[in-house]
Amino acid sequence: MRKNRRGYQQTETSLKEKQKSAKCRLIAAAHILLGSDTMRVVLIGAGVIGLSTALCIYERYHSALQPLELKIYAERFTPLTTTDVAAGLWQPYLSGPSTPQEMEWNQQTFDYLLSHIHSTNADKMGLALVSGYNLFREPVPDPFWKDIVLGFRKLTPRELDVFPGYSYGWFNTSLIIEGKRYLEWLTERLTEKGVKFFQRKVESLEEVARGGADVIINCTGVWAGALQPDPLLQPGRGQIIKVDAPWIKHFVLTHDPKSGIYTSPYIIPGEGGADGGDGVVVRVERSVASTAVTVAIEALVTVTLAEWQCGLWMQAVTLGGIFQLGNWSEINSSQDHDTIWKGCCRLEPTLKNARTAGEYTGFRPVRPQIRLERERLRVGSAKAEVIHNYGHGGYGLTIHWGCALEAAKLFGKILEEKELSWMPPSHL
Ligand SMILES: Cc1cc2nc3c(=O)[nH]c(=O)nc-3n(C[C@H](O)[C@H](O)[C@H](O)COP(=O)(O)OP(=O)(O)OC[C@H]3O[C@@H](n4cnc5c(N)ncnc54)[C@H](O)[C@@H]3O)c2cc1C
Repeated sequence: MRKNRRGYQQTETSLKEKQKSAKCRLIAAAHILLGSDTMRVVLIGAGVIGLSTALCIYERYHSALQPLELKIYAERFTPLTTTDVAAGLWQPYLSGPSTPQEMEWNQQTFDYLLSHIHSTNADKMGLALVSGYNLFREPVPDPFWKDIVLGFRKLTPRELDVFPGYSYGWFNTSLIIEGKRYLEWLTERLTEKGVKFFQRKVESLEEVARGGADVIINCTGVWAGALQPDPLLQPGRGQIIKVDAPWIKHFVLTHDPKSGIYTSPYIIPGEGGADGGDGVVVRVERSVASTAVTVAIEALVTVTLAEWQCGLWMQAVTLGGIFQLGNWSEINSSQDHDTIWKGCCRLEPTLKNARTAGEYTGFRPVRPQIRLERERLRVGSAKAEVIHNYGHGGYGLTIHWGCALEAAKLFGKILEEKELSWMPPSHL
């Protein structure tokens, strides 16, 4: 027995009946919304935010809304998204969170990923536990996420001796969710559910509404401003060097609170799956959401496609420390290269022996807070509901699943409201 809002007790049976009738109402709502049998949803964006939101909505509503037609439009797919550039460490910024909701979404994401850590999917998802250090030159307050990660503690003087120049720090265990592999895993899950992918640059939300979409989900990251002006959104340009350094087992993030987040050296090991062999440098070009994969090996060791797909390749270590607000340059800068290389080698001198596997630039979608909200769009006679989900800064992988859950909740509300607008007024 449980108590409802008015304090009346409900039996489990009546709860089940309510759930069943809620499901029926959802189905009815979908039919009313469409005036046809199909619910047409277009999601724009194939980074971590787009694909996880698509999966979350599909998993929650496909049985209630049959058929649910979910299409994904994106200009870029893996390995060409910002998500592919990310090291994939679960760690929010040190300050904040911007809103209590963001705190909850971070926690939900950590819990969700942790619940997969011992599943057979973990390797395919690019998911692993990883421990490491956050280093400072002077004491700072504990971060808001200290009770979300595992085993958070302050560094001892002996540990600090290992990092000359740093006098304060933390150690904790967190998670790595490697962007490229996670996007591949999400793409496979969506493809097997019948979700269709289209390589397409969307010029406006109105264009998609005119095309017949009932619900548009906007997960366009740092480019969202091109679809609808957003003065709060800016690129936080990052550049990283990937090196082959399998002896690096811990992350080391240094911080300089005066110059801002991720402006000082950081070293983040890869997801830590099987090692593809010494000295292998692999460059992969993957065609858009298809199975065609071209693997170019820049070494004498051969890695077969099957090995690649099984994850049997070198796990590169990410070196970084660049965060340039407002800079839209997609070209790797030699000056930034030197800054990263010198800073990281000073922090971990053995990196001088590491072979470079690649260098990448990406734009963090920086916003004072994530935009995760609904909007009604009317274009002539066409009407569409929009759910915006963008602006995840340098912590998109860290917070993505909580945001996907929230977007799915907004999607459910749209369906409920459609039913309310249709129902005859109550005379009770
Ligand atoms: C150097 C660097 C390191 C990072 N490290 C971490 C980390 O360790 N941990 C972490 O949590 N986060 C990290 N981040 C942040 C993280 O990468 C982002 O927050 C996240 O990838 C944002 O995901 P997204 O899906 O919103 O954007 P994206 O991955 O950029 O995806 C946007 C999608 O929208 C599509 N799109 C945009 N406009 C249009 C249009 N008009 N028409 C069609 N398609 C469109 C794009 O083609 C793309 O498919 C890092 C970022 C950088 C740059």
